[in-house]
Amino acid sequence: MILSVASGKGGTGKTLIATSLALSLKGRGKVQLLDCDVEEPNAHIFLKPVISGSEEVLIPVPHVDENTCTRCGKCAEVCAYHAIAVFGEYVLTFPELCHGCGACSYLCPEKAISEEGRESGIVEWGHSDTIEFAHGRLNIGEAMAPPVIRKVKELAHDNGTIIIDAPPGTSCPVVESVRGSDFCLLVTEPTPFGLNDLELAVETMKELDIPCGIVLNRAGFSDDKVEAYCRKENIPILLTIPLDTEIARLYSRGVTLAEGLPEWREGFVELYGKIWEIVDERSRCPQR
Ligand code: SF4
Ligand code: SF4
Repeated sequence: MILSVASGKGGTGKTLIATSLALSLKGRGKVQLLDCDVEEPNAHIFLKPVISGSEEVLIPVPHVDENTCTRCGKCAEVCAYHAIAVFGEYVLTFPELCHGCGACSYLCPEKAISEEGRESGIVEWGHSDTIEFAHGRLNIGEAMAPPVIRKVKELAHDNGTIIIDAPPGTSCPVVESVRGSDFCLLVTEPTPFGLNDLELAVETMKELDIPCGIVLNRAGFSDDKVEAYCRKENIPILLTIPLDTEIARLYSRGVTLAEGLPEWREGFVELYGKIWEIVDERSRCPQR
């Protein structure tokens, strides 16, 4: 099962949930955690993995052979990202805007465009005890996270439980991270911002046709608007974690709930069981 852990906003405790769940499932089959929050990967702080390999992520950007190029302008016409332009005798490329789609080189009538790799980040992999681990890091100043996320996801096993720690928000990197998931766990908190961003995240999952459920974190200090919204939308709240100074202390030290408060392990195992039931029921009854 591929299970994404996402949140409409940052700072909800998404990574704490993803890593606590992974550790709680230890000994219950193959578990892999993929940290796709490549702009700010944090799961390694909690899991403390031994890194055993790494690879640069290269985006194929165009290189124009000016001797072969006829300045016909077709490459500039086809580029949706304005990453290549033709001005009179000059063909200019803007590698930082290029998404590496390959359209310009494919359509160049003179075959004047070759591709060269531009490094946009790195992926690293290893293990934390029995948990397989991988994460990506986007280079500083680099705008395009999806190629790095795709590279992290290429490391996914084809069996067992794969937990994806997705970036916060609802933009392209989130879509790239959760795409192909069997389920998405949305972590939120009972605040007006939490509710607003949860609504956006739920709409995103609906568009992607990914079933979702909620972890309500830091609960018990506010109104019940998140619960009311979940009831209205028929989205299950699968786990509630109270606002608690001990949990906050563990979080600030990079300690998971599974390690710092082992009594929570059973709660995470139950959470996984509920998700499994939803996914199983949906696979037997896909129109739900
Ligand atoms: S499409 Fe090819 S030949 Fe035409 S301007 Fe671009 S690089 Fe030159
Ligand atoms: S590879 Fe795609 S994005 Fe990059 S310059 Fe060519 S057409 Fe534009």
